[in-house]
Amino acid sequence: MKACVLRAPAAIETNPLEYVDVAMPRPKSGEVLVCVRTCGVCRTDLHVIEGELPPRKTPVIPGHQVVGVIEKQGENARRFAVGARVGIAWLHQTDGTCEYCRSGAENLCDNPKFTGYSVDGGYAEYIVAPQDFVYVIPEGFPDEQAAPLLCAGIIGFRSLRLSGIKAGARLGFYGFGAAAHVAIQVARHWGVEVFACTRDVRHQKLALELGAAWAGSTFDEPPKKLDAAIVFAPAGEIVPAALKALKKGGAIVLGGIHMSRIPSFDYQLLYQERMIRSVANNTRKDGEDFLRIATEIPIRTHVQIFPLSEANRALNALKNDAIPGAAVLHVSD
Ligand SMILES: [Zn+2]
Ligand SMILES: [Zn+2]
Repeated sequence: MKACVLRAPAAIETNPLEYVDVAMPRPKSGEVLVCVRTCGVCRTDLHVIEGELPPRKTPVIPGHQVVGVIEKQGENARRFAVGARVGIAWLHQTDGTCEYCRSGAENLCDNPKFTGYSVDGGYAEYIVAPQDFVYVIPEGFPDEQAAPLLCAGIIGFRSLRLSGIKAGARLGFYGFGAAAHVAIQVARHWGVEVFACTRDVRHQKLALELGAAWAGSTFDEPPKKLDAAIVFAPAGEIVPAALKALKKGGAIVLGGIHMSRIPSFDYQLLYQERMIRSVANNTRKDGEDFLRIATEIPIRTHVQIFPLSEANRALNALKNDAIPGAAVLHVSD
């Protein structure tokens, strides 16, 4: 099969993904083989490729927002029929036995496997995954539209949940890429007023189109104090700026897996019961709840499509803020 393989982490400007033939994976017991149709491009892929996350598997095929159809069932994998359309996300598998898994926080599992990082991902024509970690993709979402729901969508949704935001409240988004452009649709559906702080004017424009009350540059102070903020951009210097914009008792949620150093700041910015917390991965329940809400709203994703062979180009565009919405790789029909 064709796949985009990363042999060693390197700057994306050097086009480190090689589009080559590799052996097709085989489903083990409890696993399914999925024929990939589309795979979303996520900033985490960039962190994996550029080595900001320590390598877990080398070489590796990135990609963790996979939409495809069941090609083959492994032994003891009868949950999905051959031909069923499914999605594969970042959380590839957990041990199911650690204290976090047993207490309903499988996103914090002590022994997790991650798609496109510790196991091969969806920048390929085929992928295997444990059937229990595979999602049903709701009808009504074309393959391209569905892919960004699987990480950008789910992680944005978990970030919204952890922010504690409620109807009528004011929420800031710092960075307005793939995750934010989905999360704003959920926030608006819940009756939340959204303020978008993002450096790229194209992203500011998209935020306004999607119902933001205000959009400005990353370090512009929003016109009203915020009840909560979600920082999607991986830049630590945003944290003190977001704290400044926050009301007493407000929360800042950091939505990324990697962030540059957070500069030190005055305790006064945090005092008055303001909170900072991160989001790590998601539970399968987050994913299922989000896909249900995404269908109800319904969420519309803005996607820019690239062929699988041009994954490097898609990732370079992402790094340069040149994607309004989400980049998606088209793999097969
Ligand atoms: Zn666990
Ligand atoms: Zn992701």
